[in-house]
This record gives sequence, structure tokens and C-alpha cells, in this order.
Amino acid sequence: VETERPLKVRGLQAWYGESHVLHGVDLDVARGEVVTLLGRNGAGKTTILKSIMGVMAKRKGSVLVNGYETIGLPSRLIARIGIGYVPEERGIYASLTVDENLMLPPRLKAGGLSREQVLDLFPNIRERLTSQGTKLSGGEQQMLAIGRILRTGADLLLLDEPTEGLAPVIIEQIGRIITRLKQQGFTIVLVEQNFHFAATVADRHYVIEQGKVIDMISNTHVEANIPKLQAYLGV
Ligand code: ATP
Repeated sequence: VETERPLKVRGLQAWYGESHVLHGVDLDVARGEVVTLLGRNGAGKTTILKSIMGVMAKRKGSVLVNGYETIGLPSRLIARIGIGYVPEERGIYASLTVDENLMLPPRLKAGGLSREQVLDLFPNIRERLTSQGTKLSGGEQQMLAIGRILRTGADLLLLDEPTEGLAPVIIEQIGRIITRLKQQGFTIVLVEQNFHFAATVADRHYVIEQGKVIDMISNTHVEANIPKLQAYLGV
């Protein structure tokens, strides 16, 4: 059933002022799937997430979220249909405690996790509740940012480079959290530069180049496609 699909994107275009950066992106993500957007710097990966979330001033095409067309809706309404976005800079408020950061967003949709459920998922955060948001390590900030959107009731999570700047052991923890969320039925789209991490958590990979999807690779075929991916990513 169409309304069962958390994300269906067709012909998505977006602009920064006069600068046309997305040129017709198509994506299909099934419930419980984890997909990555891979590509070089400046390919348009972050802009795809921002366009899905509705925070780009100018976008065109079709973005169906949980069956609802979101093109033309303001971003505050888009958030109410079950989508949550963690930007690359994570958006933790420096002047608030960890607990205040966690409790800040309202529950926008039925099914949002309770504070206790979030803290069960992220035991490290429970120990730091009274700290200032910015006193957390990069990994803890990432976990807090994910926990915060889980409270809103989002079941489609858009994560921009969740492993950026994190130590390998913390990256492993983030990977386990993503896998656990997937098992609980959450749908996740993540932008990743770390290809090895992407291959451990994702079902499929969309390759983005110059504002378009140029390839889609299933994770089961990823080994055979490593030379191709390295060429795409210029590594
Ligand atoms: P990165 O990993 O470097 O963030 P990306 O694939 O996420 O790369 P985007 O950030 O989506 O790429 O950028 C796509 C294009 O849009 C690039 O050419 C970039 O220079 C341009 N761009 C990004 N943000 C802005 C902005 N605020 N104003 C104008 N142009 C922008």
C-alpha cells in the first residue's frame, strides 16, 4: 500500500537563491530500511535531506512522507507527519542542560518515545542529564540529537553524517543504535562519508553526483562494487 511507504521522492529539484543544486532526485525507502546517500563533497546529499525536511526556501517535485505530499507544506507541519532530521552540526543548545535539550521538542505524533525509553536506548545520556549540552562528547551529542527526535514521534529519521569526527569505538556504538532502531521498525536515511560504516548498517546505497542519483547499490552486492564506489567517491 502506497501510504505504508515512509518515503517516496520524485523529480526533486532545489535551489539556493539562483543556484540550482538538485536536478531531479528519485528515492524510494521502505519501512524499516536503512539507506545511505553517498557522494563527494558538494554532490548535494545534505541538500536532499534539507529538501525532504522542507527547510529549503525553493524546492520542486514530489516528496511523499508516510503517504502525504509535503511539497508546499511548511517544515513545522512536515515534522508532524513523522519525520525527524539531525543536521550535521547536531543542534544541541549550549545554554541548556542535556535533560532540557532532550525535553525541548514537543511530542508531535503518537508513538513518540518517552524520556525513559530514550534513556534506556542511550544509557550514556542518562549519566549526563544535568551537564550542559556542549559538555558532551561528539558521540554523546549525536546520541542526544537522535534521542530528541525519537521523542517527537518521528519514524523516518534523516541523519546527516552521524559518525563525523567520532572515534571508531563511538562509531561502533552509533552503528549498534541504528541497527536497533531498524529492528524496531524505524526507517533511516543517512548521509555518510564513512563508506565502511555505511556498509555495516545500510540495506542500500544511493550514489549522488551533481544533484542527481547516478547509481543505487544493494548492500548485498557491495563487496563486488567497491572499485566502482571508490571511483564515484574519488577515494
Ligand atoms: P558535503 O558533504 O560537503 O556537505 P553534500 O553532498 O552534502 O556535500 P551539499 O551541502 O548538499 O553537498 O551542497 C550541494 C551544492 O550546494 C554544493 O555545490 C554547495 O556548494 C551548494 N550549497 C550548499 N549550501 C549552500 C548554501 N547555503 N548556499 C549556497 N550554496 C550552497
